[in-house]
Formats: sequence, structure tokens, C-alpha cells
Amino acid sequence: MSDLQELKKKFGVSEFRSSQEKIIKDVLEGKNCLVIMPTGMGKSLCYQLPALVLEELTVVISPLIALMQDQVDKLKSLGIDAEFVNSSISKEERNLRYENLKNGKYKILYVSPERFRKSAFLEIFKTRKVSLLVVDEAHCISQWGHDFRPDYTKISEFRKILKNPRVIALTATATQEIQKDIIRQIGLSESEVHVYNEGISRPNLYLEVRTFVDSPSKTKELISYLKHLKGNTIVYFNLIKNIESFSEVLDLEKIRYRVYHGMLPSDKRRKIQNDFLNSKDTLLLATNAFGMGVDKANIRTIIHAELPSSLESYYQEIGRAGRDGNPSDCLLFYNQDDLAVLMDFIEWQNPDENFMIRVHRVLKSVGEKLSSLDYEELQSMVVHKNRGDHRLQTVLNLFERHGVTSGDLERRSLVLRGKLPEVLTDPKVLEERKKASLNRLYQMLMYLKSEKCRREFLYEYFGATFHSCENCDICSKTA
Ligand code: ADP
Ligand code: MG
Repeated sequence: MSDLQELKKKFGVSEFRSSQEKIIKDVLEGKNCLVIMPTGMGKSLCYQLPALVLEELTVVISPLIALMQDQVDKLKSLGIDAEFVNSSISKEERNLRYENLKNGKYKILYVSPERFRKSAFLEIFKTRKVSLLVVDEAHCISQWGHDFRPDYTKISEFRKILKNPRVIALTATATQEIQKDIIRQIGLSESEVHVYNEGISRPNLYLEVRTFVDSPSKTKELISYLKHLKGNTIVYFNLIKNIESFSEVLDLEKIRYRVYHGMLPSDKRRKIQNDFLNSKDTLLLATNAFGMGVDKANIRTIIHAELPSSLESYYQEIGRAGRDGNPSDCLLFYNQDDLAVLMDFIEWQNPDENFMIRVHRVLKSVGEKLSSLDYEELQSMVVHKNRGDHRLQTVLNLFERHGVTSGDLERRSLVLRGKLPEVLTDPKVLEERKKASLNRLYQMLMYLKSEKCRREFLYEYFGATFHSCENCDICSKTA
């Protein structure tokens, strides 16, 4: 396949990495692939290169609107006919792109999974053929995944609408359980999918855990650590309010920083992200809303100021450090208070059957007035005490995913469509989901307390082969 060698150059790549070549050949032969490869290793090439060889369109489902533009710009600069369609563009521009699609333009199209709800978009594929369907950040498909997105679970329907093209799903982390779930959600059987598990090897990441007796002592240590730190750094927090209080301490210390979280307006988020991508020495305080798909070579330090909810999300987040291959530090600062917040998260993410029934009943009684309510108003009708209780958000996500409702509160378009399906009121199913969340948190705690080399612990957790700790910088074992 000398063509491949030529195309490789087009992407500015001199040698393929790990299994890239094998995966590309599989895709070209029409095989379905699930690719698990460390962040920054080059998953995109596994579909972008075949997209140029395949006759028809490649559709990429990608979770983050903010990143589509960057991906498409990169491809365009290489002379590749790529485009994206999402809610950030004007109606006129969208219609123009739809028209172009109908007329056979574009080789690669990026869309968010929500796009498949729009009939005008689906209409295009009555005539436009698709050669390859790409599911990027595929762990979002899995109901056991930490970044679970309801629309991702409709991938098997999308695949049918696109007349069952070959599929490549890609992610940086997926336990065995999540791999199985991804394959099932795509609507394929395990024998129909070639799994490439490239392991999680990131030898340049130094892993450390620091445990504190209380949160003031943690903050103090964190400040003194940041004072002398150089290079791009992300400090992750679980709660926005903790970012805010930490910011005040940084202000007093005259340490400069930027902030990123999901409650900022989208144009501001975009600007902060771009500034960070272009910077050499920025301290960014963020929630886990920041970072998925962020491709920046020189992030030197990633600190978790609070315990993450699972090793899956932890590994995904630290995976953004050191993509240039240079040594990078990943520090986890823990004190016991972190645990209470995470236990609350688990409660909010796992409402019981009675709560489901209550929300359904309220939606029914509100009837047509539903479209005039905002989240807070609906919230006050279902929970009376704790305003910080986010179970309603979980229930609304689940209702939508199961077709109980359509539309959303934000756009004032929420409508009740049907009855509660049994899976949402089956205590056994709900209990199992909750147990899975608790178990992920338990594994996180095991990581904190483990006497084993942290690298070895992570490899084992993700089912990757661990070779040795020779001359290990983490556990100081020498040969
Ligand atoms: P991820 O696996 O996180 O999706 P990307 O596909 O975004 O990673 O790739 C990360 C970086 O690695 C990109 O800048 C890409 O151009 C580069 N890259 C991919 N494959 C190769 C390769 N074989 N040789 C050199 N650079 C590569
Ligand atoms: Mg990627």
C-alpha cells in the first residue's frame, strides 16, 4: 500500500505509531474497530487517513462543539475538505453546509450526537452515502462511563440511518466492561469488532499522591507548590465554589491564573481554552468540564486539588499532561472532606425509583406550562430542601434518553412524551448502577492507599500489561 505512505506525508507524519497502520488497513478493508489508545498518541489519524481513501463521506461524532472548529481548521490547512455542523453556526450557514452535503461536498464531517435529532440533517442521508462512521471519545457511549452523554446511546440508530457503514470507535480509556458496552451500544456483536487495546503506557508521567489532615493544610501546601511552578499547569477541582475560594487565596498571593468551568458563557469558555492552547506558562483552575480532546503538547503539571470520582476520569485527565513526551507531574492532593462531595455526586447521579416517579408526576401535572419553566422553578417543585440537589438533572437526562421527554428546559422546549419505562423504575437496575459508581470510587480510594507502584496499579486496573518497575521514578525500585 504505497498510497498509505504518500498520504502519511500529507499529515506530516514520518512513521506510523503503534498500531496506526494496522488499524488504518482494517478500516479500509471495511472492518469495524474499537481503538483504545493513550491520549495524544494519534487516534485521529486512524480515521482521517482512511477518510481520504474511501469513496464516500466520513461522519465523525464528537462530543465537544468547542473542538470541532480546531479539528476542521487543522484538516483544512492540510488541504482536506472537512467541515463541521453544530449549534454554534448561524441558520444560514447551517443550511448552506446541508446543501453542500447534499451536493456531495466534504470528505469529513464533524457533528455532535445531538445533530441526529434534526430531521433536516437526517434527510441528507437519503441521498448522500457514508463510508465510515467515527465515534470519537467513545467512552461517552457507555452508561458506565464517567462522561456519559444520553445522545451517544443512540449511535446504533444513527448507524442504521446511515445505512450501516463500517464504524471506528476511539477512546483513551475503557475498562473491559466499558469496551463491551461500547460495542453493544453501537449495535454490533463482539465478533464483528476488532479491538485494539494499545494499553495506557505513559512512562513520562510522574504520579504522586499527597494526603492531608484537613483542607486548610491542603490549600497551604498547594499554594506553596504553585508559587514556584513553571510551565502550563491545570489544577482540577470538583466544585466551582472551591475554584472560587481558591482563586481568592491566589489573588492574595499575587499568583496569576485563569478559570474554566461549565457555568461560564460559551464564548468565554472558548476564549479561555484558546488562550490556554497557545500559552507557554499558564495556571488554569478548572472543573472536569475542561479538557476532553484538548490537544496541547506542553502541559507540564496536572494537579487534582480534590479526589476524582473514578480512575477512569483521573486517567483521562492526567493523560493531557506531557504529550510532547517530556517529563510531567501528576499530583493528587487528597483530604477526607473530598469524599463527602463525591458521595453526594453519587446520590445525585443515582436517584431511586420514587424520585423518578415523582418527577414524572410533576411534569404531567404541569402539562403545557412546562415550556415556560426554567430549571430552578422545576427544581423547587420536586425537591423542597436541598437546592444543591442535582437529581433532577440526572432524571431529565434519563427521561430524554428513554424518550419520556423531548426538547430541553434551557431552550424552553421541554415536552412530556410518554410513560416511564420499566428500566427507570426497576429498583434492581437502579441499585446496580449506583453500586457501579460506588465501586469506581472505591477503586479510586484503593489507588490512594495502595503500596504498589502507582503506575503498576493503573495498568492493572485498565487490563494493560505491565512490564517492570526497573529504574522506576515513582516507586524508586532499581534494577
Ligand atoms: P489522540 O489520540 O489524543 O486523539 P491526536 O489524534 O489528537 O491524539 O494526535 C495527537 C498529536 O499526535 C497530533 O498533533 C498528531 O498530528 C500527532 N501524530 C499522530 N500520529 C502521529 C505519528 N505517527 N507521528 C507523529 N505525530 C503523530
Ligand atoms: Mg482525540
